[in-house]
Amino acid sequence: MKKTVKDIDVSGKRVIVRCDFNVPLKDGVIADDIRISSAMPTIKYLIENGAKVILMSHLGRPDGKADMKYSLKPVADRISEILCKEIIFVSVPEVVNEEVKKRAEGLKSGEVMLLENVRFRKEETKNDAEFSRELAGLADIFVNDAFGTAHRAHASTAGIADYLPAVSGFLIEKEVEFLGNAVENPERPFVAIMGGAKVGDKISVIENLLKKVDTLIIGGGMAYTFFKAQGYEIGTSILDADHVGLAAELLKKAEAAGVKLMLPVDVKVAKEFKNDSIAAYCDLDKIPAEMMGLDIGPKTQSLFVEAVKEAKTVVWNGPVGVFEMPNFAEGTIAVAKALAENTGITVIGGGDSAAAVEQFGLADKMTHISTGGGASLEFLEGKVLPGIACLQDK
Ligand code: ADP
Ligand code: MG
Repeated sequence: MKKTVKDIDVSGKRVIVRCDFNVPLKDGVIADDIRISSAMPTIKYLIENGAKVILMSHLGRPDGKADMKYSLKPVADRISEILCKEIIFVSVPEVVNEEVKKRAEGLKSGEVMLLENVRFRKEETKNDAEFSRELAGLADIFVNDAFGTAHRAHASTAGIADYLPAVSGFLIEKEVEFLGNAVENPERPFVAIMGGAKVGDKISVIENLLKKVDTLIIGGGMAYTFFKAQGYEIGTSILDADHVGLAAELLKKAEAAGVKLMLPVDVKVAKEFKNDSIAAYCDLDKIPAEMMGLDIGPKTQSLFVEAVKEAKTVVWNGPVGVFEMPNFAEGTIAVAKALAENTGITVIGGGDSAAAVEQFGLADKMTHISTGGGASLEFLEGKVLPGIACLQDK
């Protein structure tokens, strides 16, 4: 377990917090501020406990240059609005300069300051020691609460921890507790559901989960590469041709590990990749040559739902069909409902799966929906995340 802000004394200390304020901007206006509001529990805790708060984040990809299109100014304004108080924002291309240092030194307990986009400096993504030291020089304590970038070793996510005591904020604490624990220390039976478009994207996740789960359910586009490996005709379904051999190997590995691997037994096929395409249900061994599988069929839905019912821990990564098209969303809806009804631990670890669950109005029925796309995947792959590894252990 990693120390959190609650495990240290922050009163009167300057605390620099790496947040994920990488919000979508439309014509300079924040289109969705969920990332800002999600950061508030940690920020408010620090304010209430008398810390002098310095916030930092990246926004977009300014490529190491001070491109004002990616200024954090709109974020500063929104934070002021949410907190109902003025926060200090010094927008300088070098992120840290003499004025920034002076303002940081002059902070009073409970005051909040935001630095300019850390990716204005090319040293940020290089995890440069000098830039890490500049950031560390502003504060007494480092808090990482940006899960979405925790898989990156950058100056503001990991390098800075070489120079300051480092702990996690509440967002990272929650990710470690639910996503980390679900995989490393699951209540059994542990069922993982993998879907999405391509096997290639998720090989390492499948390999890691095979070592941990009791049952591995595979749906979505990636299933067709497994069907191909088993010798079935898959028509015009999405195929990851480079990974057919690997799919065959994974099938063998599952058997050797005693993991129950479940693939669809029937599918919903369509002529074209379109919602209103001619469509039909068919058993797996009867996919017509000119059609593509875009969802799981009703028999498969029942099998998957049954498997989820018995689970005490469920991790779901990747929709089991093209849920963006209503005519091919049934399978993903059935899986989402099964998770919603499960009284054990249910964790969603994938951008599109999370979007699906939100879209179906079932988000609040899940134990945890992970917020970091790439970071969640690396967690599921069993990798060490540099932005978490650098934090102090309890
Ligand atoms: P996540 O973001 O949850 O990790 P992915 O990004 O791996 O999920 O995959 C999501 C995409 O997979 C969705 O856009 C969905 O339409 C697509 N998909 C699911 N099933 C199929 C299928 N049978 N054929 C083609 N694409 C599919
Ligand atoms: Mg995705």
